[in-house]
Amino acid sequence: MALVACPRCSHNASDLAFKCSQCGSRLRKRKHSLGAWLLCGGALLGGLLILGMLGQLLVG
Ligand SMILES: [Zn+2]
Repeated sequence: MALVACPRCSHNASDLAFKCSQCGSRLRKRKHSLGAWLLCGGALLGGLLILGMLGQLLVG
């Protein structure tokens, strides 16, 4: 757990907190950005491709 400064009131809030306890400003941003999703999707797609290739190899 770490402390982050609220962008609005610079109150130190836990980075686990969704909102600043002082001013109610939203603290959390989506850390899993598009890049992370793309990476995840790419890995999934690659896995599926490999599985498909293996399946084809097994089936013959
Ligand atoms: Zn605040």
